[in-house]
Amino acid sequence: MASAYGEGSFPLLKERILKDGICLKGGVLKVDSFINHQIDPSLLKAMSVEFVRRFADVEIDKVLTIESSGIAPAVVVGMLLDVPVVFAKKKKPSTMDNMLVTSVYSFTKNTTYDVCVSRDFLRPGEKVLFIDDFLANGNAAKGMIDLLNQAGSTLVGMGFLIEKSFQEGGAYLRQSGVRVESLALIDSLDNCSITIR
Ligand code: 5GP
Repeated sequence: MASAYGEGSFPLLKERILKDGICLKGGVLKVDSFINHQIDPSLLKAMSVEFVRRFADVEIDKVLTIESSGIAPAVVVGMLLDVPVVFAKKKKPSTMDNMLVTSVYSFTKNTTYDVCVSRDFLRPGEKVLFIDDFLANGNAAKGMIDLLNQAGSTLVGMGFLIEKSFQEGGAYLRQSGVRVESLALIDSLDNCSITIR
């Protein structure tokens, strides 16, 4: 039976993280060789199909992500669902007005930055699925919830490739009533050893 943590880790991704993931100091997992820099398209496709399966009971009008690492999985999910994909930008383009803006604290860079999306692409009443690569403390996710609230759109769920369950984001989102699906749940990166549920 599905728990509050969904269905546990997606075997293909779990095996790949154990094989090619690199644990850095400070609880950071490097997945540059297959997700964040070099991308493995067949894994990307399999993960996107898994998101579509997990969110099959949900009505989705649009997929939202944040640049840059969320874009690849979001686009494939959007393609499979045949819905548009919009990504929040980390720099305000000079050509863009009518903007929704929020600030996000970055876990990996230890800075706060503004992210924005045009009101033209997040509409009142739209049912939105958010997709991203990592869930850590949930700061990016909180920023996206703020943008969706400003837009009057409805958040129908959040899908993450990798959730670090030893950080607080997942518990916060689930307690707030957000439907969260994470394809890999990392229970610990202590002593540079990767423990996946
Ligand atoms: P949060 O906002 O949930 O604290 O952190 C999520 C964002 O931080 C993700 O979009 C990702 O870019 C980055 N991030 C957090 N933890 C890690 C990690 O262990 N490895 C990598 N590569 N990125 C991470």
